[in-house]
Amino acid sequence: MRHISFIKATSVVFGAAMLLQMNLTCTSAQTATDAPRDAYTANDRMPDARFKADILVVVAHPDDETMVTSYLAREIFEEHKRVAVVYGTRGDAGHNEVGPENALAMGQIREIEARQAVGSLGISNVWFLSGRDTASQNVLNSLEHWGHGACLDELVRIVRLTRPSVILTLLPGFTTGENHADHQAAGVLATEAFDLAGDPAAFPEQVSPVGNPDGNMNLTEGLRPWQPEKIYYFDNPSHDISAGHGPQYSSSEVSPSQHISYGMLAARAFVNHRTQGADKVQRAIDEHNLEKLQDEDMRLLTEPVKLIFGRSMVPSSRTDDVFAGVVPDGTAFAHLSHSDTAPLSEPALMIGDPWSFYHDFWKEHGLEDLANLVPTELTVKVGGSLSLPLIIDNPLDIPIDVNIEGKAPDGWGVIPASSVSVGPQTRYFLRVRSSAPATRLAGWQNFTISAQMGPKSIGTVGIRVELSTGWVAPL
Ligand SMILES: [Zn+2]
Repeated sequence: MRHISFIKATSVVFGAAMLLQMNLTCTSAQTATDAPRDAYTANDRMPDARFKADILVVVAHPDDETMVTSYLAREIFEEHKRVAVVYGTRGDAGHNEVGPENALAMGQIREIEARQAVGSLGISNVWFLSGRDTASQNVLNSLEHWGHGACLDELVRIVRLTRPSVILTLLPGFTTGENHADHQAAGVLATEAFDLAGDPAAFPEQVSPVGNPDGNMNLTEGLRPWQPEKIYYFDNPSHDISAGHGPQYSSSEVSPSQHISYGMLAARAFVNHRTQGADKVQRAIDEHNLEKLQDEDMRLLTEPVKLIFGRSMVPSSRTDDVFAGVVPDGTAFAHLSHSDTAPLSEPALMIGDPWSFYHDFWKEHGLEDLANLVPTELTVKVGGSLSLPLIIDNPLDIPIDVNIEGKAPDGWGVIPASSVSVGPQTRYFLRVRSSAPATRLAGWQNFTISAQMGPKSIGTVGIRVELSTGWVAPL
């Protein structure tokens, strides 16, 4: 059973406490059985049921939940599932479509808007981590700016408090489209919390019995370790990556209990995000033409929710229903076992961070399938430039000379060939750059970078690029 009892620890400490108390307060006429009940046993009370969740949603910004709201409405209204939501930031780096308030002031507004949005579905257990909204495509920038360790501590605590069966979170991966680094960071943190919350050695102060439950100023938390059973991802890429990778749920289907579509329930939740342009959705609802809107946000309200299977601790296939295999009392914690990668024996060319981070992250968390979900791809602004991080890894005991050559598509700036010397047992970091055309070219723009050591190839890196005329976050 997952509910690790405090009774064993209680009996040891209770015994010690009882002896101490007898020394301090007992008269010679008293016996051990007359000693007052030690408050320490109050640690064995059941966790507070008000915070138990079936689904814990972990996203980055107020309004990100919109990507799954119609599914949440289905589970709440038809299946009576309990849902809690965690936001990594308050969305303080966007712009305000209602008033002059911006930055931290707007973050305070967006917290209220988010609580109102999910509150319309009956969700009241809502938390905000201490992350700061970070405009970037590189997940490592967001993790740094959020305070990765502090936010993970906070999120593991919330998982242990809410004891979810299922975590739904944003994809920890690099895609074109709305490839916000904060979205990726939410998925990274949720994945780490999925693997840590059941481990009594992780953030142990959270799962330590409280020293004096009847007294103030306790410095441990009295939570229990908790292993969620499943984790699913969702994303908002410029192309469909979800097909066949998880269950899908219609938004146009009408709720038998609410008598409107799940998409309309999602739209009615979304209209609370007024600083993020939700007033046009309210107008569309009022004028009965929601389905006619072409804006990307509006499609989210009418298109199906497409989930990507991450991991399951219980028997479940990739496209099964989210709750397939879930058992009422939960599942036991198990350390994830993975085989170590053999160290490199020959020099190699690799793509650098953030892609090299994901290569390691997916393996570490048993998510190798995500490596095959999306090819290496990137969005670049028209008139901007591609700046691609690369690594040459030299495991040899001697220095090596490496020639780099890049092939750019027609219309892009030429990537000049270059030569570098890499010391023995050294990782060498470099970038290749290519200027983007001034007008948008349709379709994927394919780049190839290759490295030669004398006549011998030590690797080729490919990346496909999508040109955008809109705003593109820096890498
Ligand atoms: Zn967002």
